[in-house]
Amino acid sequence: PPEIRFEDVRFTYDGVPEAALHGVSFTAPAGRTTAIVGPSGAGKSTLLALLLRHHDPGEGRITADGRDTTQYSLGALRRGIAVVSQETYLFHATVADNLRLARPDATDDEVTAAARTAGIHDEITALPEGYATVLGERGATLSGGQRQRLALARALLTDARVLVLDEATSSVDERREADIVRELTNAANDRTVLVIAHRLAAVQHADHIVVLDAGRVEAVGEHSGLA
Ligand code: ADP
Ligand code: ADP
Repeated sequence: PPEIRFEDVRFTYDGVPEAALHGVSFTAPAGRTTAIVGPSGAGKSTLLALLLRHHDPGEGRITADGRDTTQYSLGALRRGIAVVSQETYLFHATVADNLRLARPDATDDEVTAAARTAGIHDEITALPEGYATVLGERGATLSGGQRQRLALARALLTDARVLVLDEATSSVDERREADIVRELTNAANDRTVLVIAHRLAAVQHADHIVVLDAGRVEAVGEHSGLA
């Protein structure tokens, strides 16, 4: 998996006097979990949008595997970075079909393994195929947590070697969020994981934490040194 590195990244939105990012630098080591934590307005979404090149680049450099992200095609860059967020789009189809659509050439064993790792396996096997629809019109409705796990299973089925959890679990209490983040990062083995969250307690199991505030890196370290 790639190392992701931000080098003195600055970004200002058009028509806004104050910069959203004032020279952000950090390294997300290959194959490890790095948390980006900060309050609302800290610049977390801006940072992710720049990584995915949803905005034109500002100043500074963002690299993946030592290569500037602007040197990748947009398709290759975005295929390489799977994002699980609260608004992850699920297809109006069965759980099994949602998994297969993530990678049509995946074998049944691969689909099963991803579902098991993400903790959504019971929902594909316990119910007749075609029964558990994502939107729950017929049969079982998926809970919020189950939808999240389905989104994670889909991300795990793709070839993406970078997994971003974008405030995916911020609606649950922080203790539970910490447990979920730990489960998710365990499931993501052999990927570089970025966890975006607004509470430090939620990411206590991350290998490495970057604290962002008002567009600046305030601190970097392990949870024990920051709390
Ligand atoms: P976070 O994700 O940590 O809440 P954001 O990256 O959304 O932070 O915001 C960082 C700063 O950029 C804030 O001051 C915010 O108001 C501003 N901002 C975010 N998105 C836009 C936008 N589309 N246009 C103008 N300003 C924005
Ligand atoms: P919700 O209350 O959001 O509907 P569930 O009822 O599906 O969530 O949660 C059941 C269990 O799954 C809980 O023990 C919870 O900690 C865990 N869980 C919830 N969301 C996730 C997730 N995204 N990944 C892994 N486990 C989760």
